[in-house]
Formats: sequence, C-alpha cells, structure tokens
Amino acid sequence: MDALIQALVAANFAPERIIPRAPMARYTTFRVGGPADVLVNIADPHEIVTALRAAKQAGVQSTIIGNGSNLLVRDGGIRGLVIRIAGDCAAIRREGCIVHAKAGISMSAAAQFALSEGLSGLAEISGIPGTLGGGVIMNAGAYGGELSQVVTRVDAVSIADGKPVSFEGPQLGFSYRHSAMMDANVIVTDVVMQLTPGDPDVIRARMDECNRARRDKQPLNYPSAGSTFKRPAGLFAAKLIDDCGLRGLRAGDAQVSEKHAGFVVNLGHATAGDILALMDEIKSRVLAQTGVTLEPEIRILGED
Ligand SMILES: Cc1cc2nc3c(=O)[nH]c(=O)nc-3n(C[C@H](O)[C@H](O)[C@H](O)COP(=O)(O)OP(=O)(O)OC[C@H]3O[C@@H](n4cnc5c(N)ncnc54)[C@H](O)[C@@H]3O)c2cc1C
Repeated sequence: MDALIQALVAANFAPERIIPRAPMARYTTFRVGGPADVLVNIADPHEIVTALRAAKQAGVQSTIIGNGSNLLVRDGGIRGLVIRIAGDCAAIRREGCIVHAKAGISMSAAAQFALSEGLSGLAEISGIPGTLGGGVIMNAGAYGGELSQVVTRVDAVSIADGKPVSFEGPQLGFSYRHSAMMDANVIVTDVVMQLTPGDPDVIRARMDECNRARRDKQPLNYPSAGSTFKRPAGLFAAKLIDDCGLRGLRAGDAQVSEKHAGFVVNLGHATAGDILALMDEIKSRVLAQTGVTLEPEIRILGED
C-alpha cells in the first residue's frame, strides 16, 4: 500500500488524515470489522476526486463510507482505499426554504440547523446516526419521515471516472431504503432539500417525541447498525423474528436484541463472523417458520 500512501501524500492530503491499516471497528457503529488497507478522511468534496485518482494510480479499488452506521465490515477488512466522508465535510446553508448541505454533515446536525432556522421537514430523521450522504443513498427514514420527502437534488461524482453527475426529481429514484444513487456507483457530495417554514417549538417537540420513542424502543446501549433486515412488504421484520422466538438468540457475542428483535447487537466482543452467522440463522429460521425471506438492510463490506 506504499504506492497508495505516496499518491495520497503527493496529492497534498495531510498525513494525519491518511490512516494505514485502519481498524474498521473504530469507524463503524457495530464496532466490528478488520482493517482497511488505507482510510482517508475527506475534509472537502473536491478532495474526493483527488482520492479516487490516487487509488486509480496505485491500482487499488475505492470504497466509500459515511458514519459507518449501516455497515458490517467482515473480519478480513477492506482491500484498497476507504474514502470516509463524515464530520469534516459538513457545511450547510439556506436560501429561503431551500437548504444546501455537504454529504458529510450528520443528519442530526442538518436537523438542528433546520430547527434553528425555523424550517420543518427533518424532525423525524433527526435521530438517525448517519451522514446526509449515507442517508440519501439509503433513503433513510423514521416515524413517517423519509429523505425522499425533502431531497430535490443530489450532486455526486462517478467512482469509475471521477466525473460530476447530478440527480434531480424523478432521477433520484427513491423507494424504500433505496435510491438511484445506490445503483449508479457514485459518491454523493452535495444534497439540496426543500423544507417548509415551521414553528420552532412545534419542530422541537416533534424531534423530542421521535428521539424519546427511539430511546424507549431501541437498544442504544449496545453497538449495532440499526435494523438488521428490511421490512418485508406489508410485514415487520422485528415482529416476524420475535414471533419465531428468536429474541435473545446468540452467536458468540452477537445477539438478537432483547429490547428490539429487529436489531442484532454486539454484546462486547462480537466478530463480524458472529453477526453473519446469527443473521444466517435468523433468516433460515424465519423462512422455515413463516415462508418469508428476510433481506439485510445493513450493507456488508470487505473480506472474510
Ligand atoms: C442505533 C441506530 C439506529 C438507526 N436508525 C435508523 C432509522 O431509524 N432509519 C434508517 O433509515 N436508518 C437507521 N439506521 C441506519 C443508518 O444510520 C442509516 O442507514 C444511515 O443513513 C447510514 O448513514 P452513514 O453515514 O452511517 O452511512 P454508512 O453506514 O457509512 O454507509 C451506508 C452505505 O452508504 C454508502 N455511502 C455512505 N456515504 C456515502 C456517500 N457520501 N456517497 C455514496 N455512498 C455513500 C456506503 O458505501 C454504504 O453502502 C440506524 C442505525 C443505528 C446504529
């Protein structure tokens, strides 16, 4: 990986933003996963193309992550370059009721900004622990709110050639936990949202209500990646898992949460292998008992 590190240094990335053998457990909310060969923390969208070019020059593949809150990285880690767009790449501004934000801003910070500006539309997603870029890719949503309801334009760069590409209106292709950007092999850099004027007290009350419901129902005291499986049409994954008697089921230190059967949690020392084994067991028992095939909502990356 020396060639990749040299290419990143030559492209003026500060050494402290280049992390060789980056332990992915540190960069994911599940707190599992082997090392990435090299991880680079992006501070500004223009650096994304530079990082892609450095990876190409070194002949390695690039993988994009945000806050790692919907990710399971396998125990062998990720080969090549991980481009992390979170935290630093987070500017946000308004023009009337239109909000322009960089992909690395957290959804909670975007929602706080909207609240402070008296703009309504992000209260329900305010407690989702990911970046806006990661949220847009997944069409993140909760409590009846979904990014698809407010996002009007997404600017991105193509992973294949680093060229800019934009998605507007129907091109965004949003559906349940899916977007056109997910299939297009692009990196989201900028997001435009159409919000509506709102009373800050009402917005704050709705945020508090959603976040209270989250604290009451979700096992937030254990590492996880949120809902493990997607909602099958007309059904709830958590209820199916619960009805099959799988609450509390364990594989090593991975467990079907006692508090919310839709979550697999890491009790402390789980490996990605434990989590994958538990997910397989859940899938096969639910299929055998109900005939429903569960599909993962979490994204699985890396090598065994
Ligand atoms: C406790 C908990 C509760 C959760 N509750 C919810 C919930 O209520 N609703 C919900 O929808 N989700 C929920 N999640 C899951 C997760 O927070 C969301 O899916 C979030 O949108 C992921 O954002 P991220 O920045 O963490 O993305 P990551 O997990 O880092 O990445 C997710 C996917 O997006 C891609 N990606 C990330 N950033 C970019 C980018 N800039 N450009 C292109 N691709 C990118 C990655 O390659 C990966 O495929 C929860 C997770 C946890 C841990």
